[in-house]
Amino acid sequence: NNIVAIVGRPNVGKSTFFNRLIQRREAIVDSVSGVTRDRNYGKSEWNGKEFSVIDTGGYVKGSDDVFEGEIRRQVELAIDEADAIIFVVDVEEGITPMDEEVAKLLRKVTKPILLAVNKVDNAMREKDAIEFYNLGLGEYYTIAGMNGSGTGELLDKLVEVLPELPEAVEEENPLPRFCVVGRPNAGKSSFINALIGEDRFVVTDIAGTTRDAIDTKYNRFGFEFNLVDTAGIRRKAKVKEDLEFYSVMRSVRAIEHSDVCILMIDATRGFEGQDQNIFWLAEKNRKGVVILVNKWDLVEKDTMSARDYEARIRKELEPFTDVPILFVSALTKQRLLKALETAVEVFENRKQRISTSKFNETMLPIIERTPPPALKGKYVKIKYCMQLPTPTPQFVFFCNLPQYVKDPYKRFIENQLRQIYNFEGVPIDIYFRQK
Ligand code: GDP
Repeated sequence: NNIVAIVGRPNVGKSTFFNRLIQRREAIVDSVSGVTRDRNYGKSEWNGKEFSVIDTGGYVKGSDDVFEGEIRRQVELAIDEADAIIFVVDVEEGITPMDEEVAKLLRKVTKPILLAVNKVDNAMREKDAIEFYNLGLGEYYTIAGMNGSGTGELLDKLVEVLPELPEAVEEENPLPRFCVVGRPNAGKSSFINALIGEDRFVVTDIAGTTRDAIDTKYNRFGFEFNLVDTAGIRRKAKVKEDLEFYSVMRSVRAIEHSDVCILMIDATRGFEGQDQNIFWLAEKNRKGVVILVNKWDLVEKDTMSARDYEARIRKELEPFTDVPILFVSALTKQRLLKALETAVEVFENRKQRISTSKFNETMLPIIERTPPPALKGKYVKIKYCMQLPTPTPQFVFFCNLPQYVKDPYKRFIENQLRQIYNFEGVPIDIYFRQK
């Protein structure tokens, strides 16, 4: 997927515009998972072209008096990570010094930049917008984020300028693609070094399906796998980063490009908001997940047992809690082999195909014992079910009244399915359809 970043100083209307872009799809996704959360990453689609959108402003906390330096870094990251950038400005305020700063950075970039002049909702404002030619970014698009006018023209242009990505080639026996994600200092580099370090055995370097993502093939402890990295991650890793939201943004491409995300958290800090964001990114992209609680060597075992710790994390993962959680130490190399093994297992779980006859044999008796509750005197009859031939596990249940099947019952079915089959670490989709 192409990644589109929305940049601009605070309060120009980035979030409103962002929400408009992801709205239609999100509504569908939310009705399935039943969860809503703060969003600064989502998927959008226009004229049949799908792309991911990042609202970089969403990651800047206390955005009212955000520092110029932070805006600068926000834009630099967008330039590094995105395929196209939408720069939002505000016609009411006109060009501010901060806008000029941003424009200066963007003028140097060869990636497509679209200038969106927001809050243009009358002819007068259309005239005022002309001043934005002074930013030196060429043509602009006038929009009104509140009512959505102008968005269509902007998106027409956007999908036109997005680079064509090479079609992903379906390999016969693809190797697992892992990415290691997590906040700064969680121990990602230490883990990777320990994993591939001394006996590092690089077979090949093949460019991934996007310009920046690199798959490197490794062979370790008898496992063959690709580690997914991005040029952006490498470059920025040298910089001492303390702003955590950047780690989320940098994770986006790596996550989209892999099969299984190895999410590292720092045991001395616990599972926090940014960990949850990264987890959610993986879940949303329907990637496999393994959680590694790193630096376990530093935790006093009498004050905190692994079991308590695990329970606390699982609570944060709801509703997708069927995820392996391992306690490791990259420093003392504790359980690193187990971590790799688990990641391979999750990859296998995600790939499995259940035959339709077997699936019906196991699921239909459960449904018969516990049918969906009757609604307004109507009974839902589920006749038949199957796994769809999709890259990530999806299941469809055919019935007479799909609209009468509510979320609690969907969750019940998912739980049953997970008890019978091993989908540990793998997000699954369940649909009810009319036959
Ligand atoms: P990254 O930013 O996620 O790549 O984190 P690093 O791998 O650079 O690790 C950050 C710091 O934590 C470094 O000082 C590491 O030596 C330390 N560290 C990493 N893993 C462990 C561990 O398992 N135990 C302890 N005690 N320290 C660790």
